[in-house]
Amino acid sequence: MKSRRKFLIDCGAVAGFSYMSIVRSGWSEISELSMKTGRMTLRFKPYELHLRHVFTVAEGSRSTTPVMLTELEYDNIIGFGEASMPPYLGENHETARSFLSKIDIAQFESPFLMEDILAYVDQLAPGNYSAKASVDIALHDLVGKLMNQPWYKIWGLNPKKTPYTSFTIGMDKPDVMKAKVREASPYRILKVKLGQGNDKAMIEAVRSETDKPICVDINQGWTDKNMALEMAYWLKDKGVVFIEQPMSKTSFDDTAWLTQNSPLPIIADEAFQTIGDFKKVQGVYSGVNIKLMKCGGLRSAFVMIKMARSLGMKVMIGCMTETSCAVTAAAQLSPLVDWADLDGNLLIDNDVFVGATIDDGKVILPNGPGIGIRQKNKEKSKN
Ligand code: MG
Repeated sequence: MKSRRKFLIDCGAVAGFSYMSIVRSGWSEISELSMKTGRMTLRFKPYELHLRHVFTVAEGSRSTTPVMLTELEYDNIIGFGEASMPPYLGENHETARSFLSKIDIAQFESPFLMEDILAYVDQLAPGNYSAKASVDIALHDLVGKLMNQPWYKIWGLNPKKTPYTSFTIGMDKPDVMKAKVREASPYRILKVKLGQGNDKAMIEAVRSETDKPICVDINQGWTDKNMALEMAYWLKDKGVVFIEQPMSKTSFDDTAWLTQNSPLPIIADEAFQTIGDFKKVQGVYSGVNIKLMKCGGLRSAFVMIKMARSLGMKVMIGCMTETSCAVTAAAQLSPLVDWADLDGNLLIDNDVFVGATIDDGKVILPNGPGIGIRQKNKEKSKN
């Protein structure tokens, strides 16, 4: 196979075949020598998201997020995907490029072989969940477009049952927090990042501007379970509806004690990534925050929602800072969840897609097939 591939590359253009030298500027293509018709082509391109505000959580601050945009093409139909790689997850442009370059997508005759394709992608290397999610999302988009149906319809979900999304207010000085709250006026639920020692001042600043429900994300910032319980009661009095990741992801005993005694649900985020983590969080947390970039994409996320329900756990669907591509993909699942935190595309100023929108705080699913997005400034393609 290798010698045949080299021969064809050495020959230059070969009718009916494609290879890396003819793809669009900035894109890498993994389909060498696959037939253009009837076979899939995977392309990927690094991109950097610019955040509207410097984003501060208990772990640190940043103003950009690296993403990898992916495309899966089959019979001139393109499915779009995305890997978003905030630094704390350990992936970056280089790891994504390395992982995606391993994928021989052209060996599959049909994109409808989703189970085979995604099982193959998953076993190529451990981890790399964002890169895996970028393929999963692109494949779902492609297959939905081939079926000419959006995924919420394929799954049989009611688009009227989408939740209200929270809008995240990053840590800042009280005056800036108040300004951010005013900026968030279209949203019905606010998410406030806590865990840096000034939690009560942060909540008081928000409460001086609004009486909307608040959810709080501690990002593992609390270290003492008794203080955490005291805060849980204080936060409940302040109209907080749940607490996300209060203590270290490895503090299972203390978190289980807090969950048993807390007047508010305790949700696992950093402590919960893939389906295998259910055995760690069951009985320790009230619910889980499912994110496509943590679990490897829509196929896993769908199974995880069902699994959480079977265990009597609450379900939240979240996101990273992402374009409307990955956010809209997650939104397709949102009729199944208790809470949505799908504001990642709203926190950036260089989105390249249009997809799910927010109306009076509620997630509105697009009608288009697949994950339902379209490119903002459609590139001219040579392919
Ligand atoms: Mg979180």
